[in-house]
Amino acid sequence: MNTFLLNGQHTNDIERAGEILRHGGLVAIPTETVYGLAANALDSTAVKKIFAAKGRPADNPLIVHVAEFSQIVPLVQEVPEAAKKLAEAFWPGPLTIILPKSELIPPETSGGLFTVAVRCPAHPVARAVIQAAGVPLAAPSANPSGRPSPTAFAHVKQDLTGKVDALLDGGDCRVGVESTVITLAAGKPRILRPGGVTPEELRTVLGEVEIDSAVLKSLEQGRVASSPGMKYKHYAPKADLTLVDASPEEYSNYVNQKCGSESGLKSCYALCFEEDTPLLTIPYLSFGSRYDSAEQAQRLFSSLYRLDALGVKKIYAHMPRKQGVGLAVYNRLIRAAGFSVVRPQKKMIVGLTGPSGAGKSTAAKLLEEAGLAVIDCDKLTRSPEVYTADCVAELQRAFGQDIAADGVLDRRLLAERAFADPDSKKRLEEIAFPYILTAVRQALENAFATGKQVAALDAPTLFESGLDSACARILVITAPFEERLERICKRDGIPEKAARQRFSAQHPEEFFGNRADWVVENRTGADLEAELALIIRELQEESGEIL
Ligand code: AMP
Ligand code: MG
Repeated sequence: MNTFLLNGQHTNDIERAGEILRHGGLVAIPTETVYGLAANALDSTAVKKIFAAKGRPADNPLIVHVAEFSQIVPLVQEVPEAAKKLAEAFWPGPLTIILPKSELIPPETSGGLFTVAVRCPAHPVARAVIQAAGVPLAAPSANPSGRPSPTAFAHVKQDLTGKVDALLDGGDCRVGVESTVITLAAGKPRILRPGGVTPEELRTVLGEVEIDSAVLKSLEQGRVASSPGMKYKHYAPKADLTLVDASPEEYSNYVNQKCGSESGLKSCYALCFEEDTPLLTIPYLSFGSRYDSAEQAQRLFSSLYRLDALGVKKIYAHMPRKQGVGLAVYNRLIRAAGFSVVRPQKKMIVGLTGPSGAGKSTAAKLLEEAGLAVIDCDKLTRSPEVYTADCVAELQRAFGQDIAADGVLDRRLLAERAFADPDSKKRLEEIAFPYILTAVRQALENAFATGKQVAALDAPTLFESGLDSACARILVITAPFEERLERICKRDGIPEKAARQRFSAQHPEEFFGNRADWVVENRTGADLEAELALIIRELQEESGEIL
């Protein structure tokens, strides 16, 4: 088959794509999530061609794309209030809504179900093509069934040239993972597939939203899939992929050793985070910061294509966090791995941090009472263990010999000089952090030697010190700004103005929230203990401390 290459920036090409689609042809189109393989959703012959080109099982239904909200009206039995609210909040955008279908939708499109999945994409080229076609477009991801989804035009070309009528170039996809699929057709709103719109965002509009258990785990044996796509192998690169659940330190130790010993170094790769790269001694590909789920989503599929192109045979991917869009990244990776996850270290180190006044110390106490080893990193910072002879000598070179005139560090003099200006403070941190790290490591070793399985590093400067690199999980305690302010004024006996000034020099709440596996809001009257109990249980289960 001759495949036309079209460009989304040219009006003529969009018209041409519309015409091909109107006449029952197949065109790969860009959307903000991933590239889609489109056909007229109301034409069963055209839709069958999609299944043939992708090798997609006939019972796996297709998402129907419209250019305007009003276009879904004839496609569904009725438009419930919840669908209107969702569309208002998230359309055009990466959200697919499942509703009972009308007679217009052929069974080929809905995979024989009585429901239909509808979405209004945000990509201007996608919407222009739907308008030009004059019909709603069924469009699954433009990849052979089971393989990673294409997010770059080059990948679409590689997969579909000769198999479809035309390919429309719209550049790289912004979101990088598929749309979130939510059903409104079966009781409470339930997420069947996480994607570009997060559960938190959906909850702000709908209140309660469930997450189907198949999002995080493989479909239990014997259970009927709520979404047929849940049954099938998905997103898999050619290489064998294992997901590694570990801190950056544990991850790099593990993969350095694994890939180092596997024959043919080049065929084994780490699919890692930016923060892992200084620790890796083997070939690697980073797909973004550990703390930037949106970046990971955007780069995940193109990274898998890249590793396939390199002929890689074995991939060790670093487990992403599950917050926000991270849930979608995790969901794709765990399927790409065929649910193969390793935890190289049974022991679990969790970072405990948050803005001042949130009640981190109260949380630390509760963790300790629950049996965790808690290491107070701030206290260690002031302890004599940190100030070894080498450390003191370095400090003297930076801040003057007289800060330890008779060999004993004069901490007041040091503080006076080191906190005089931001540059001096930075210099102090550069010198002290490595020594603090050593002391923390020793404290961890001691804690684990006593038989503890879970340790918490209580550290206000968890990220600046680099201690986050030792943490497999991060727990953030926060509280409303006004309450934190009040607590600090009371605790330190300072006026509000001084407390505000102190806060303005610190990271904002989002800084912590964006890095957390869990955020616990310690509002006045909140049951901190109960909220922490759930997290503690999860940590203890994961570390094997309780079965
Ligand atoms: P893809 O087209 O590859 O992005 O995948 C679409 C996903 O939506 C698949 O997992 C389908 O199983 C799911 N889906 C589409 N229509 C329905 C429906 N009516 N009910 C449940 N899941 C659906
Ligand atoms: Mg797909």
